[in-house]
Parts: sequence; structure tokens; C-alpha cells
Amino acid sequence: MSVRPTVDFLLYDWLSVDSLNQRERFADHSRETFDAVLDTCERIAREKYAPFNRLVDTQEPHFDGEKVILPQATHDAQKAYADSGMLSAAQDYEIGGMQLPYSVEAAANAFFAMASVSIGSGMLTTGNANLLMAHGTDMQKRVFALNEFNGRFSGTMCLSEPQAGSSLSDVATRAVPDGADSEADPLGPRYRLKGNKMWISAGEHELTENIVHLVLAKIPGPDGKPVPGVKGISLFIVPKKLVDTDGQLTGERNDVALAGLNHKCGWRGTTNTLLNFGEGKYPVRGDAGAIGYLVGRPGEGLKCMFHMMNEARIGVGMAATMLGMAGYHASLDYAKNRPQGRPMGPAGKDPAQPQVRIIEHADVKRMLLAQKSYAEGALALELYCARLVDEQHTGAPEAADDARLLLEVLTPIAKSWPSEWCLEANSLAIQVHGGYGYTRDFPVEQYWRDNRLNMIHEGTHGIQGMDLLGRKVLMENGKGLQLLADRINATIQRAIQVPELAAHANALGKALQDVGAATKAAWATGNPTDALANAVPYLQAFGHTVLAWIWLDVALAAQAQPDSHARTGRLAAMRFFFHYELPKIGAWLQVVRDRDLTCASLPEDAF
Ligand SMILES: Cc1cc2nc3c(=O)[nH]c(=O)nc-3n(C[C@H](O)[C@H](O)[C@H](O)COP(=O)(O)OP(=O)(O)OC[C@H]3O[C@@H](n4cnc5c(N)ncnc54)[C@H](O)[C@@H]3O)c2cc1C
Repeated sequence: MSVRPTVDFLLYDWLSVDSLNQRERFADHSRETFDAVLDTCERIAREKYAPFNRLVDTQEPHFDGEKVILPQATHDAQKAYADSGMLSAAQDYEIGGMQLPYSVEAAANAFFAMASVSIGSGMLTTGNANLLMAHGTDMQKRVFALNEFNGRFSGTMCLSEPQAGSSLSDVATRAVPDGADSEADPLGPRYRLKGNKMWISAGEHELTENIVHLVLAKIPGPDGKPVPGVKGISLFIVPKKLVDTDGQLTGERNDVALAGLNHKCGWRGTTNTLLNFGEGKYPVRGDAGAIGYLVGRPGEGLKCMFHMMNEARIGVGMAATMLGMAGYHASLDYAKNRPQGRPMGPAGKDPAQPQVRIIEHADVKRMLLAQKSYAEGALALELYCARLVDEQHTGAPEAADDARLLLEVLTPIAKSWPSEWCLEANSLAIQVHGGYGYTRDFPVEQYWRDNRLNMIHEGTHGIQGMDLLGRKVLMENGKGLQLLADRINATIQRAIQVPELAAHANALGKALQDVGAATKAAWATGNPTDALANAVPYLQAFGHTVLAWIWLDVALAAQAQPDSHARTGRLAAMRFFFHYELPKIGAWLQVVRDRDLTCASLPEDAF
């Protein structure tokens, strides 16, 4: 079973991505060129990633005292990925890119996430390089970003510290100007950094010639103390090995040391590291302190970093989605082959009959359809967001601005919804397998472990909820929320004309009203403590409403197609979502509306 027909349907029949070639930037493209990219990525994922997914889980990265060792399969897979040109797929032709729409790039990368999420497909490297293309100097772009796009260097994002995870304003890494000529360095104003960065993915390995760390650090103010809050944070390029202005290694090791590898629940094919910057393990030019080059202006580090974080959040949502999809396919295959039990007829069970396959039991069908509705719905959402990114970059000014604002509102959902519900899909995939699902003989337990990360990194669920209710639905006088409501209403207007979809259209209309009313009620006292006490139930209800809209819109496209098993399946997944999932928002919204403080007001000692 392949996910490709679903990808093709969503890209072409639903989102009409092939029509993007009417835009100047994509004029050389066509459905044929898009298909060629999808074919290549599907093949590399099948040949170089999928067969090694279990291997990278069992052969965790280890440190031999000098180097971090990863399985050869990881080296081969990442080389094949870089050789395919995917690292620079969206870039301009003149720097070696393909000028591919982001929607096609995201769809192509989905195959790798499904085949082996933890071998990885360079999400951090492209995100890092894209940030430099947006905020770096010409020299920084040429020396660092271009060498990331061509696969020579890889990239990291170094935000978190042992004591500063969700609260980035508390980062303690310091950066001070490096000598009298520090401003004159052609690679950018040169600083010395000291501090510890925790949880850094791909922070140490031998997969590439060099590693480009993008590091958040504070420059002390005139009083010698770090400026409090996020305004004091700046962004630096800290290469593992120093380079000259041609991007060649100078032979000097920068003062960045691996303090240890984290041993994770899942996602074990990617190293995760505690890095010490500037502790003097590798003194540079006689002194301790890691050399870093300022990106953008001092104090604007977090703003620049958000460029990387927004892309990373869509990437995380896609990874969660494809893990959900992998579990769905595995459990569907298992359910079609596993004989167990007999149907209950009016006269009870007939032990003389052979056992049926478990896919014939209604409860197993429920678990399969739930997984389908979560994973395929999430894929549609991620591709919709990716299409908005294309609109933001290449649309007419007003449409581009609408896309920007819609993305602001939808990004917390694109990150968090698949992280929660495709994880639930993985749990159901284990359940479909029964006891076998709980063993390492089948792949589904690994999918669950790999997916468990996604509600934690790139902003936890709690942080996403507060971002949505505390910031995104309010920003620009609620215009983003209004734009989203307009799009949802447009779908409702179309669906209400279709007898098969009219009841769902009405249910969605009611859900939208309820979300709007709960948003107002949450903020009725104007007190953030009241409003945000139930930010996660709000996130869940908002997410389910968005997914119901996505499913209804997908159903409109499916409806227009000739009868087929795929069409029947899509319409059933949409119905499942409206019958079994959307009604859940009532309970979530009630505590939001009531500004229920049951949890928030409970004294610590009463726990
Ligand atoms: C495998 C892995 C890979 C990672 N990769 C990277 C990486 O490459 N680069 C990087 O910089 N970081 C990375 N991270 C770090 C990740 O982003 C953080 O773990 C995450 O932001 C949470 O920070 P924390 O672990 O310190 O938890 P904490 O911030 O301590 O949070 C613990 C709990 O408290 C809640 N909480 C915290 N503050 C609040 C608040 N104000 N209101 C309500 N609830 C709150 C959280 O929601 C969470 O449930 C990675 C983490 C892991 C596990």
C-alpha cells in the first residue's frame, strides 16, 4: 500500500498545485516535473530509508571519545538525499536550486518522514540555511547557507539550555565582542560565546564536513549584565570548524564541545546533544570562547530565529503526520491478515466456522478509520499550510498578506494537532496489533516512540495553546481569525448545496460559532490568568474545528470524482470525523467559556 495516491489527490485534485506554473517563479514547472521529484523522493525513501528504520533505532549513536558514530546506512541515506538536490529544492536556479513550490517540496519530504523519520531529511539544515538567506549578509549566505544547500555542511538550531526550554528569555549563553577588530570580520561581527545548549538535534556527527550551529545568546549591556527578556537575545553563526571567506575549512576547531549524547525514547537515528560553547576544550587562537558571527542586528535574535521555527513547526507537524500514516498502513495490513474470533450472530458465535480476519470486526474498523481520518486529515492540513507558504511568497500582494496572517493562526495547529492525534493514531495501530503491537517484532511501537517527541519539541503543547489563544487569535485585531472564519464559511456555503454534505456543513458552522464565542468568553475579564488557564483545551477544540473544515473541503473534491474505493474511503473518513470527533469540542470549549479554574486554582499541597 502506498501513500502516493493520497498525496497526488491532495496536491492536484484538491489544491490544484499544478496551476502554480502560471506564476513566473514556477513557469518552467509542470505536473510532469513535480511528479518526477515525487517519484525520485519516493524511490530514495523506499530504498535508502525504510529498510534501515529499525536499524537506526537499535544502533543508537554513540561517542567513541573522539567522534560520534552513526550507522553507515545513515551516511548513505543522507548522501542520497543531498545528491537528489532536495536540500536546495526551493532555492533560485542561480544558486543551484530547482525553484520548486514549497507545497511540492513538503509533499516530497513526507516520503522520508514516513520511511524513517529519525534518519532525517535535512529539515534543520534547510531551515538553518533559509534563515541565513533571509537575515544573513551576502558573505554569510555564500559561505554558510550555500554550503548547507549543497550538502557539504549541515545545520542546527541552538535555542534550549538546561534551565531555559519553554522560557527562552532565560537563556544564559553570553556573547562578547572578540577583540578590537571584531566588527571588521568579513564573516560578520565576531563574538566569543560561552554557555551550554541542551537538546541540540544533530549537534555532533561526522555526516558532513562541518556543522553550522545557529545559537541564541545574550550580549551584555553597558553595565556588563545581560539585557533581561527576549529583547536581549541575539543570533550567531557558530561553525564547528572555522572557515575562510571561500567557505574552506581553515583547519582550526572552534570551541564547541560535545558534553554528552541524550538517550531518547525514540527518534534515535538522530543525535541529540548537550553542547558546551566556549569552555576552553578547544581554545581558538589561544583563548577559550567559541567564535560566533552575529546574524542580523543585536537584540533581534529571536525574531530571526522565528523564521526557522515557523518552518520547523510545519516540518514537525508533517513528521507527526507521516508517523501516523506509517502506523495506519502497518495496522491496516496486519488487520487484513490476522485471523481472530468469529462474528456474533443472532444465535451467538459458531465455533465450527473458521475465524475471521480482525478487519471484519466493527471495533477494529473503528480504530482503522480513526487513524485514516487523523493521518490523512493531518496530511491535508500540512499541505494546505505549505500551499499558503507558496501564496505568501508568490501571490499577489493582498493574497500574500492574507496567507501570511492565516499561517500565523494555523501554524500552532499545524504543529500541535498531528502531534497529538497522529500519536493517538500510533497508539491505535498498536491496539490493532494486540500483544504483537507491544513487541519489537512489529514496527508500530517504534512509530509511537518516535512520535511522542512531537508534542514536546518546537514549543510544547502548552506553549502552542498559549500562542494560539494568547497571541494569534488576537493579533492585528483578530484579522487572522476572521480570515480563517471566512475560508471556513466559504467551504460551508459550497458544502451546504450538496445533500450528502449539508448536515456536516451545518455542524461545522455551529462549531465555528462555538469557537468564536469561547474565544470572546475566555477574554471577557481581560485577565490572561483566566483566559489562558485552559489554553490547551482551546487548542484542541480549535484544532478539531480546523480539521473538520479541512475534511469537508477535501470531501467536496472527493465528491466530484468518479466512484472508487478511494472516494468511498475519503468520504467515510470525513463522516467519521464529523460523527466521532467534532462533538468532542463541546467539553473542551465549556471549560474555556467558563474560565474554569479547577486546575489553575488548586493549591499545590492539595495535589
Ligand atoms: C529529542 C529532542 C530534540 C530537541 N531538539 C532541539 C533542538 O534541536 N534545538 C533546541 O534548541 N531545542 C531542542 N529541543 C528542546 C525542546 O524544544 C524543549 O525540550 C522544549 O522547548 C521544552 O523545554 P523543556 O524541555 O525545558 O521543558 P520545560 O520548558 O521545563 O516544560 C516542562 C513542562 O512545563 C510546561 N510549561 C513550561 N512553561 C510553561 C508556561 N509558561 N506555561 C504553561 N506551561 C509551561 C511545558 O508545556 C511542559 O509541559 C529538543 C528536545 C528534545 C526532547
